[in-house]
Amino acid sequence: MTDSNLIKGEKHTWELVIGLEIHAQIASKSKLFSSASTVFGAPPNGQVTYVDAAMPGMLPVLNETCVHHAVRTGLALQAKINHHSVFARKNYFYADLPQGYQISQFDQPIVSEGAVNIDIDGQIKEIGIERLHLEQDAGKSLHDQDIGNSLIDLNRCGIALMEIVSRPDMRSAVEAALYVEKIRSIVRYVGSCDGNMQEGSLRADANVSVRLLGDELGTRCEIKNLNSLKFLRQAIDYEARRQIEILEDGGKIIQQTRLFNIAKGETIAMRSKEEAHDYRYFSDPDLPAVVVSDALIAKIKAELPELPDAKQTRLMADYGLSAYEASVLVAEQQRADYFEAVAKNIKAKLAANWVISELLGRLNKAEIALEDSPVSADALNGLLQFIEKGTISGRTAKDVFDEMMENGASAADIIAEKGLEQISDVGEINTLIETIIADSPQQVEEYRGGNQNLFGWFVGQAMKRSGGKVNPQEVNRILKEKL
Ligand code: ADP
Ligand code: MG
Repeated sequence: MTDSNLIKGEKHTWELVIGLEIHAQIASKSKLFSSASTVFGAPPNGQVTYVDAAMPGMLPVLNETCVHHAVRTGLALQAKINHHSVFARKNYFYADLPQGYQISQFDQPIVSEGAVNIDIDGQIKEIGIERLHLEQDAGKSLHDQDIGNSLIDLNRCGIALMEIVSRPDMRSAVEAALYVEKIRSIVRYVGSCDGNMQEGSLRADANVSVRLLGDELGTRCEIKNLNSLKFLRQAIDYEARRQIEILEDGGKIIQQTRLFNIAKGETIAMRSKEEAHDYRYFSDPDLPAVVVSDALIAKIKAELPELPDAKQTRLMADYGLSAYEASVLVAEQQRADYFEAVAKNIKAKLAANWVISELLGRLNKAEIALEDSPVSADALNGLLQFIEKGTISGRTAKDVFDEMMENGASAADIIAEKGLEQISDVGEINTLIETIIADSPQQVEEYRGGNQNLFGWFVGQAMKRSGGKVNPQEVNRILKEKL
């Protein structure tokens, strides 16, 4: 561990300890125990079956797809898949939970003991995963100020979630954010969750405590429902400061569930922390145990795609990319695929540069997702071929690319239509330079007299007279020869 993670208080130096519970909505068309649709943005209460509304006599039926996604994710997290797991009722009352209990998994989850690696400025750190279990989401309460009433939307009620619980292995808000990014990347690779934090498909609860170096773990507070990496970092940093101030003033941390107030950038107390026994957990008598066979595990394992860490290692080895370049490219599977398609017959470094700086830069700015890019990998590959052949300069290529992004035209068409082809013909460049030299006796004399700075002026003339189309390497070479 590096000391840079430690936090200086007024009196002591503190270590921050973080464990995260991530709720990832399973990419399934129907809910965990009912056939209701899970599509985002439907009208309130439009996606509710009698099971979700907990009508008397309704029975849950487990959605097999969700089990497969949990196994798939567990394998991608290098975890242990349990052959036998049990659904349990977590009992509590809330208006958006008509059953009066949430069906979750308690002491026998479907997945346990995994790990992921995070990369902190080139240093790899392993974060332990305690478990992954299946559970239902609750509905949503809308507190309407105008009508002085609360409204309930049960569309989310019963949607399948994977809760992924980390060990308290993170030591800074940055590490916590890297961990969430890595989990998000992995669930998107295996297709078990779309990872959309804005729509709430992936959200994190952050457990935060502080301690003096070498001490036992401190008392933690849990900050609920953080749905962006920025809020996650802000909430953790605020919470650490708050706890340190209390402890340095001689106070004690009370274990609490807290909320993050986005507008104020502060965490606020929501309730004192409940204990497991408050929930009266017991196995759900309506549901049999979930049995996962070795054959199913083997089948799902065989279907797993190449995962981000392995892909990063391969891109570095096969293409000679830096760890940084490879990590940017593998963050999203489509991004890596796009790169590999662009790099087919192009120098890998050139392809990586163009995908990372030019393409992703422009897409980010325009807030367009890669899958909606107006320029396909083949089209970008076409442009880069023109650079490699020397048909156009790198500078001109950027303008061509802007236009490709704008109207989807091919590089070949734009170059032909605008007559952008670079002049590389030695004879033509020779003539051009001879004319410039003949036209500029004074500059030639000064240059030959020792004013080396004038070289740039000659290059500028060649550019100007050719409308920027002359190949700069050739100009330099021929100028040196003739001057
Ligand atoms: P609960 O379900 O009551 O929230 P868990 O024991 O499942 O409790 O822990 C939840 C999370 O809290 C885990 O991610 C764990 O790593 C983290 N955690 C446990 N103790 C601490 C601590 N002292 N400081 C920070 N995080 C902690
Ligand atoms: Mg918790």
